[in-house]
Amino acid sequence: MTQKKKLIAGNWKMNGSLQANAALLQALRDGLGEAACAVAVAVPAPYLAQVQGLVAGSAIALAAQDVSQHESGAFTGEVSAAMLRDFGTRYVLVGHSERRQYHGETDAVVAAKAQRALAAGITPIVCVGETLAEREAGQTEAVVKRQLAAVVQSNGQCISEIVVAYEPVWAIGTGRTATPEQAQQVHAVLRAQLAAATERADRVSLLYGGSMNAANAAQLLAQPDIDGGLVGGASLKAADFLQIIAAAH
Ligand code: PEP
Repeated sequence: MTQKKKLIAGNWKMNGSLQANAALLQALRDGLGEAACAVAVAVPAPYLAQVQGLVAGSAIALAAQDVSQHESGAFTGEVSAAMLRDFGTRYVLVGHSERRQYHGETDAVVAAKAQRALAAGITPIVCVGETLAEREAGQTEAVVKRQLAAVVQSNGQCISEIVVAYEPVWAIGTGRTATPEQAQQVHAVLRAQLAAATERADRVSLLYGGSMNAANAAQLLAQPDIDGGLVGGASLKAADFLQIIAAAH
């Protein structure tokens, strides 16, 4: 059982506009009050500067949705960790299933991205999770362990500085959530894997992601190894996101 502050991170994915971002952040700031948990929003790269300004002086941390595995140079379209840091980025998602699925990101690429983020002083939120076919084939544990192992192996003792998000692919954007028991079971596996690599495994926040919403957040967040949530769709509506934050004591 871990006692650290919970983290609720919103993943806006490829949504937003200058106008919509301003309205959403204003509503979040107005409704946040004394949030008992840490809060972050992962925004599309073009809006980093805008959102950096909008969250200044608030308890909301800035996050990015991806980072290059390379340091700098001839990588057209890529955004480096140093560039993210220039805008005060605190967290970056790496290995989101949509990046693994649509952009061919391998475990090795995800591990390299996590390494770049850590070297720049940005906390990588490493996303792992099985597809429906993998779950039905009884491979859930093997898949998430393989995905996390790549990051553990290439990051050594820095591994206690990461955040891990368990996101079953079949639950992302589908309205189908893992039960609290299913999620806890995988989180316990991930915690044990981290404990084998570092004495500070308890410091690592393990987030659950996959159709988390105002109705199911409290039960998921009550599990002993669930330290927060990575929230997609529900993070785009201030009222829903605020209710999830309120559920994270
Ligand atoms: C996500 O994109 O990381 C996610 C969990 O999405 P959703 O909450 O919409 O399932």
